[in-house]
Amino acid sequence: MKRKRYAIVFDTKKCLNCKACTVACKFENYVPVGDDSYRLWVTEMPLEGRFPVLRQEFRPSQCQHCENAPCEKVCPTGATFRTAEGVVLIDYDKCILCKACMAACPYDARFVSKKHDAVEKCTFCMHRVSEGREPACVETCPVRVREFGDLNDPDSTVSRLLNQRAYYQLKPEKNTRPRLFYLK
Ligand code: SF4
Ligand code: SF4
Ligand code: SF4
Repeated sequence: MKRKRYAIVFDTKKCLNCKACTVACKFENYVPVGDDSYRLWVTEMPLEGRFPVLRQEFRPSQCQHCENAPCEKVCPTGATFRTAEGVVLIDYDKCILCKACMAACPYDARFVSKKHDAVEKCTFCMHRVSEGREPACVETCPVRVREFGDLNDPDSTVSRLLNQRAYYQLKPEKNTRPRLFYLK
C-alpha cells in the first residue's frame, strides 16, 4: 500500500473570516489564549478591483508542512522531524529553544510555547488523524474552506480538487514544496 501524503487544500473564495478555525485550533491544542501564540491565522489580503466592484481574499494559513523544510535542515538536535506521511513535527523533549527553526521558516509558522517550553506549530492535528478524525480546523469551518486528505489517493477530495481547479502556493520562490494548496 502506498504511503499517505497529507495535504490541505483551501478554497479561500468561501472564507468568511469568522476565525472559527483559529479558535478551534487553540482549544484542540491547548494553545494559550490572550497572547500572540497561534498555530493558524487568517490574513486579510488587500482589496482588489475598482469601486464599486471590489473583492478581498481572506487567506487562512499555518505551517505549510514543506517537503523541503528549512526548519528541519537547521534544527541541531533532530527535534524537528518529518513523519513517513511528510508531516513536519517537533519532539518537545529534544528542543533546546535555539530558535534557528523560527529564523529559517519563510512562513513565520513557529512560536515559543510557554506550555511545552519548546517551539511549537501546527501538527495537522495528527493525534486526531491517527484516530480517523479530521484536523480541528477542517471539521470546524462552517463553509468547508478547508479539505484535508491524502495526495497519493486519486479519489481523495484534495486530489480531485487539485486535478479540477487551478491553484497557487505561498512563496514558491523559496523552493519549500508546501503541502498547503490554495485554489484560484
Ligand atoms: S512552514 Fe515553516 S515550520 Fe512549517 S515545515 Fe515549512 S519551514 Fe517548517
Ligand atoms: S528551537 Fe528547537 S525545534 Fe527549533 S531548531 Fe532549535 S532545537 Fe530545533
Ligand atoms: S473557519 Fe473557515 S470560514 Fe471561518 S475563517 Fe476559518 S477558514 Fe475561513
